[in-house]
Amino acid sequence: MKRKPLPKKLEKEIYQQFGSQCPFCGEADVNTLQVHHIIAHAQVQAHHADNLCLTCANCHQKIENEVITLHEVADAKFKAQHAHSSLSKQRPADSGNVLSFNGTNTGVVANTVNVTTKSSSVKQGPIFGTIGANLEQRNYVKHLIDRYHEFKQAEVGKKAMKYPVFYNSIKREFGAKWDHIPEGAFGSLVAFLQRRIDSTQLGKARKARQEKNYATFDEHRSKAL
Ligand SMILES: [Zn+2]
Repeated sequence: MKRKPLPKKLEKEIYQQFGSQCPFCGEADVNTLQVHHIIAHAQVQAHHADNLCLTCANCHQKIENEVITLHEVADAKFKAQHAHSSLSKQRPADSGNVLSFNGTNTGVVANTVNVTTKSSSVKQGPIFGTIGANLEQRNYVKHLIDRYHEFKQAEVGKKAMKYPVFYNSIKREFGAKWDHIPEGAFGSLVAFLQRRIDSTQLGKARKARQEKNYATFDEHRSKAL
């Protein structure tokens, strides 16, 4: 069957549902964001809102490689759907045009999806005062997280990489997702990430050879300018 393009309205709905950011790493650059079919399009032969998840290109690759599991994708979808539930309750009961997704609908979707794009107030950008809202801090933290994964991969191999493990350990340590951590805790977060990089096998080896494991915040900032 020929694949129909994703309707623009539906695409917009998914962007809004996920606050226009990747639910796995917080990436908000629209150039890298894409809409992912949770159950493969080839299998369901349809575009349905309940089966769509926003993700950045990086995490999309991780989903394809099952580094991010289906369970984690489903969990992210569930959270995104329920993040604005108070708003959705305020909508009038105009649910006559809602499709229930039970795996049997293979037909046209475009004009039967309940599009909620009118409620533009659900747009959720980075939270003010957090690392996610501070471009320089955010970019540097991403640099360190990437560096950690790069070093870890050298240690365990691509197949054994478990990206969510590191994100979860940050969350455990700081009580929030990395980009929701307050700007004021940037120094502690950086120290934590650098320590973790330095304690990988590659990190230790490089340190012993007096090679740098990462750029400093100032170096990274001036490079980005
Ligand atoms: Zn991502």
